[in-house]
Amino acid sequence: MKEALQHPIFKIISGVADENSRECYVIGGFVRDIFLRRPSKDIDIVVVGSGIELAGKVAAQLGKKAKLTVFKNFGTAQLKYKDLEIEFVGARKESYLRNSRKPIVEDGTLEDDQNRRDFTINALALCLNNDRFGELVDPFNGMNDLENFVLRTPLDPDITFSDDPLRMMRGIRFSAQLRFFLESNTFDAIVRNRERIAIISKERIADELNKIMMSAKPSVGFTLLEKTGLLALIFPELLALKGAETKDGVGHKDNFYHTLAVLDGICAHTDNLWLRWSALLHDIGKPRTKRFDPRLGWTFHNHNFVGEKMIPEIFRKLKLPQNEKMKYVQKMVTLHMRPIVLSEDEVTDSAVRRLLFDAGDDIEDLMTLCEADITSKNPEKVKRYKSNFQLVRQKLKELEEKDRLRNFQPPVDGKEIMEIFDLPACATVGEIKTRIKDAILDGIIPNEYEAAREYMFQIAEELGIKKP
Ligand code: ATP
Repeated sequence: MKEALQHPIFKIISGVADENSRECYVIGGFVRDIFLRRPSKDIDIVVVGSGIELAGKVAAQLGKKAKLTVFKNFGTAQLKYKDLEIEFVGARKESYLRNSRKPIVEDGTLEDDQNRRDFTINALALCLNNDRFGELVDPFNGMNDLENFVLRTPLDPDITFSDDPLRMMRGIRFSAQLRFFLESNTFDAIVRNRERIAIISKERIADELNKIMMSAKPSVGFTLLEKTGLLALIFPELLALKGAETKDGVGHKDNFYHTLAVLDGICAHTDNLWLRWSALLHDIGKPRTKRFDPRLGWTFHNHNFVGEKMIPEIFRKLKLPQNEKMKYVQKMVTLHMRPIVLSEDEVTDSAVRRLLFDAGDDIEDLMTLCEADITSKNPEKVKRYKSNFQLVRQKLKELEEKDRLRNFQPPVDGKEIMEIFDLPACATVGEIKTRIKDAILDGIIPNEYEAAREYMFQIAEELGIKKP
């Protein structure tokens, strides 16, 4: 495996380790990713002895170009060198208490260190000492699992997962990210240990969820979360979408699998994490709005508005950001049906202008979401929607060029209205403003100052307001 360790840094670490008679290995994700041809800049080094001490000596040798940070409490040291991030740790043996994922740590051998790893493919180590440079140490036959795309714990999975339940989330994340399969005993152990997830912080869970979201096909991860029973514990609102009820012979689609199809669909078109979250949450309000109407069948009236209102609580519980990113997701969820509704009827200028006004700069993202939402199995229907969509896009473009409505600011503002008519801040000022805005969006007047001012006087006259 010498060729995988061609970067000069490995020879430097090797030299320092030999000079100090330390056994030293590169280990974990970096080694796995060599074989998977996923180039990585994060390198983990295990030293039999003190990781901090060896890191210090390597840093001294590298001189000014290297930046060393020591985490004494964790017994680790991080070295930033060029574009690399190298983490040094002493080989350790871990034992766990039932109510914490923080282990009791003792110095150990390489074997102890490999035993504490989460999956066999993450326990591979390459020796850096000169006489064994590049030698692979693979006690759990991780190479075999790597070749067969299998995720398996090195030790009894019940112990591995119960010790640190975050590993269950990591396993599912690796399934989605690397498209590996959880070996059946490993999978069953996740099912058995799922309740242990309670001791993991929400932030850690959110990190893993975001990594699943950023994979090429996140449905792989969410399906596993559902099948293992973890989803019910960490994200019940999403699970509530599952199931298709039938009444009087009328069924509705399973909104969980529909949501996952929309999510996978959008991933081909965007790397924007929050647009992906919008896809995951676009129908989240459906279970709460579901009704059966003997005439109409199943309805989900206002599920977009209900969904929008559910998002702050979901984001708070999942420890996702409570800022403009959340507001963006809310906006996408509220508006997600607008382009499609618009394309179902005749596409009028006024409706397109209103959509532009409401979506602002996020209009492209909204169109992307709405297009991903078309998952009908009926090819005729899909074709019709897609061609209507073309029409909406074209109209959006034309009107945007003509009317510049994307980030609409009314040409006459409240302050000016108050000054001209000597009015205090009151409902009348609001009414005049709204009517000017509506007139522009309905195409009655152009989006220009003079026209808006003239129209303002017209409204004022109608309302019996005199210019002083
Ligand atoms: P990624 O960088 O995509 O998160 P990775 O496998 O490199 O993947 P890291 O979190 O960087 O993940 O961890 C590096 C290595 O440390 C892993 O390959 C694994 O050997 C070990 N490791 C990390 N977290 C755990 C854990 N919770 N339990 C056991 N081993 C772990």
